[in-house]
Amino acid sequence: MSEFDLIVIGGGSGGLAAAQRAAEYGARVALVESHRLGGTCVNVGCVPKKVMWNAADLAEGLRDAPDYGFAVPAGTHDWVLLKEKRDAYILRLNGIYEGNLAKRGITLIRGRAHFADGRTVTAAGSSHTAAHIIIATGGRPLLPAIPGAELGITSDGFFELPHRPQRVAIVGSGYIAIELTGIFAALGSDVTLVLRGETALKQFDSMIGESTLKVLRDDGVSIVTRGWPSALESDARGSLALALRDGRRLEPFDCVLWAIGRAPAAEELGLERIGVERDAYGFIVTDKYQSTSAAGVYAIGDVTGRAALTPVAIAAGRRLSDRLFGGKADRHLDYHNIPTVIFGHPPIGTVGLTEQAARDDYGDEAVSVFKSSFIPMYYALTAAKPRCDMKLVTVGPERRVVGVHVVGPGADEMMQGFAVAVRMGATKEDFDDTVAIHPTSAEELVTMR
Ligand code: FAD
Ligand code: NDP
Repeated sequence: MSEFDLIVIGGGSGGLAAAQRAAEYGARVALVESHRLGGTCVNVGCVPKKVMWNAADLAEGLRDAPDYGFAVPAGTHDWVLLKEKRDAYILRLNGIYEGNLAKRGITLIRGRAHFADGRTVTAAGSSHTAAHIIIATGGRPLLPAIPGAELGITSDGFFELPHRPQRVAIVGSGYIAIELTGIFAALGSDVTLVLRGETALKQFDSMIGESTLKVLRDDGVSIVTRGWPSALESDARGSLALALRDGRRLEPFDCVLWAIGRAPAAEELGLERIGVERDAYGFIVTDKYQSTSAAGVYAIGDVTGRAALTPVAIAAGRRLSDRLFGGKADRHLDYHNIPTVIFGHPPIGTVGLTEQAARDDYGDEAVSVFKSSFIPMYYALTAAKPRCDMKLVTVGPERRVVGVHVVGPGADEMMQGFAVAVRMGATKEDFDDTVAIHPTSAEELVTMR
């Protein structure tokens, strides 16, 4: 007989959720974690990032405050204090997570897990068996394969910075590049954003990248397009220069941050021994039930390479435990219509299909698009005048809303409710029939013509 009903490898968003849900059903559960409980999200992701985003938001409020009649003394921001308070908050969360495991009777094994066979996991010098094993090992930031790459930092290093660097280059064009550009810029750094293409956030509706880059440019961020890094060099005083393939040389910088994607943390698990299939990028291949190609072995979260977001890892983990231990045979996560927010400055909220994806899926004839671009009322009094851009993508004669895209203040808090509407199949008429909340930016989404 197995020692446990379930072993979960990885105590991040997905692993904790799966382990706790299984334990609530009465399963005997062990969780193996090699670092700090909470994983990427709590330690080097969503949580400390949102703290920094809040700080940047306050900085923007202080910038605008004189326009609302406040006499704000020009102050300096204390990065050291903010980091201390942020780190202490995360330490508290680590403790709370450990307490939650203990409360549910989950055995916490501290160490790096490896598969000895399809039912046995080795960690911290001992072996443990279970009928079911979930891999929830997440990912790690990528470095480019160029000389001097190690002179730069990644998002992990961002959270270790003891002081705010003044001259920063950020290489990349996805979530992390846009979020950290906004934070550094709002807190007073001179930021150069280096894109290898012409625009950013290419996986989203084209409006999103265009609007975001416009606001960043207006905020003084220097944007370099077609910039393929070829080397990173440091001089004797530690000043950094980024060489590009086309001969351009960007300098000087105090910090260069790579934000070019993440790789799965799956190399050292011994997956080849148990026949778990991985794709060309190393992500673990799973079916809709999160099952891998090895019987009794499942994978959830970032290590599967699908929608690398905390609530996705949590939802996949909980549903898998509902299925394995809760008697819900068909329970699984539907990966369509997952809402997401990029915590940029301004924030970006999006759910559903881009305009292009809707055209590809349904044909041009079937697609109607509604747009709005305006200066939110808050900025009527301020010197800064960033715009808010919105787009609704609808399909069919009934104009079912299949995509909602917003760049602008409030987009982060706006999107959750609209995601419910999209999931329920709301039409443009349903949006129009909903009485607006005035004066807000969100009301534009129900008053578009
Ligand atoms: P993780 O949370 O990465 O957890 C994996 C755990 O497994 C880690 O604790 C690791 O130490 C452990 N582990 C790995 N290998 C082993 C092993 N062999 N043995 C034992 N333990 C092991 N998502 C959002 O939804 N909203 C956000 O605002 C957001 N912001 C982010 C900001 C940044 C800078 C980053 C990097 C990510 C952000 N994300 C955000 C993404 C989110 O953090 C991840 O999608 C989420 O953490 C994935 O959860 P997971 O359980 O798959 O993996
Ligand atoms: P992303 O996948 O979002 O973006 C990385 C981008 O970097 C690519 O899209 C690519 O853009 C560019 N890129 C790739 N390779 C290179 C290269 N060699 N040189 C220059 N640019 C390159 O990855 P991130 O690292 O930003 O974030 C990882 C994941 O973490 C995200 O996908 C997201 O799922 C999650 N996350 C979620 C957050 C949230 O929910 N708010 C916040 C942060 C992360 P292009 O093709 O345009 O050049």
